[in-house]
Amino acid sequence: MKAAVLKSWKVIDIEETDAPIPGPGEVLIKVSFTGICGSDVHIFNGTNPIARTPVIPGHEFSGRVAALGEGVSGIEHGIRAAIQPLKFCGTCTACKRAASHVCERLIVIGVNQDGGFAEHVVVPAECVFPIPDTLSDETAALAEPFSIATHSLNRGLITQSDRVLIIGAGPIGLYCALTAHYMGARSVQISEPNPKRRAVADALGISAIDPSQIGALDQLAKASNGEGFDLVVETSGTTGGFETATQAASVQGRIVTLGFPSEGHSQIHITRCIIKELSLIGSRVCTRSEFRDTLDMLTTMQERGDVDLEGLISSIRPLSELAASIVDVERGTETAKILIKPI
Ligand SMILES: [Zn+2]
Ligand SMILES: [Zn+2]
Repeated sequence: MKAAVLKSWKVIDIEETDAPIPGPGEVLIKVSFTGICGSDVHIFNGTNPIARTPVIPGHEFSGRVAALGEGVSGIEHGIRAAIQPLKFCGTCTACKRAASHVCERLIVIGVNQDGGFAEHVVVPAECVFPIPDTLSDETAALAEPFSIATHSLNRGLITQSDRVLIIGAGPIGLYCALTAHYMGARSVQISEPNPKRRAVADALGISAIDPSQIGALDQLAKASNGEGFDLVVETSGTTGGFETATQAASVQGRIVTLGFPSEGHSQIHITRCIIKELSLIGSRVCTRSEFRDTLDMLTTMQERGDVDLEGLISSIRPLSELAASIVDVERGTETAKILIKPI
């Protein structure tokens, strides 16, 4: 099979390798589409804390079941599926506390184990989520990043009376906004300095303001009826993002943080957190049941046709263009999701 192998940091070779063979409890997936994530940029550059080389990256993928390992039941050969790329140890404190998504020995397929930028990939059977006919393979490849949004809003204890502010309109920020809207939030606002990304948000019907312009805070205050935002989801990981978050949050507001800072840390205005009694809540990946909920949400959105899910995909490219596409994502020239079609 053809596979994109990250040989060392910033070096991807397209290689001809043997297709992997599923072991007991595993399933072979013939990959349909794999999305390029912002974290693939960190993996490519060697700045992701758990990445290793050599590895076949790619953790956002859909595909078809091509073979079943010994002992796998309840999954039919040939079915279409979305894959949750997480493997848990089952024995650490997090796993014992029913929080296995933050397992101390978490394996992310496509980060520290071979992933979806290949014609085939092997995954544990419990990572395979069959999808209905009404959900396209392309949209199913968006399930993993959308599940990050689902989890972050659940971590933020979203309610229907919340005014929600999303900091950053990259793919994850957009998915957070669409998911908050789907969950019935009272209002959803985006803050994003990049005009191209604001235009994408506008096209999806989400109000987006430029935090770098004079009067931005007044605009945010107005958008929250002078009360501030009950829930802020910070996806940029930047000091500027946290500045906006702590200023625009309401008294006793909740700030969910899920964007990794590019320099390893960001600053946050602690005094403001104390004065306003803000809660800062970390959010990482998602649970199995949230992944299922996310697929149900995407299926409903696709059936209703009220969200232009295909419009969230900016281009579909061959495996040979992976390295150049990762650079495009890093430079921000692409405003929506790039999908790689390995076959
Ligand atoms: Zn991702
Ligand atoms: Zn564990």
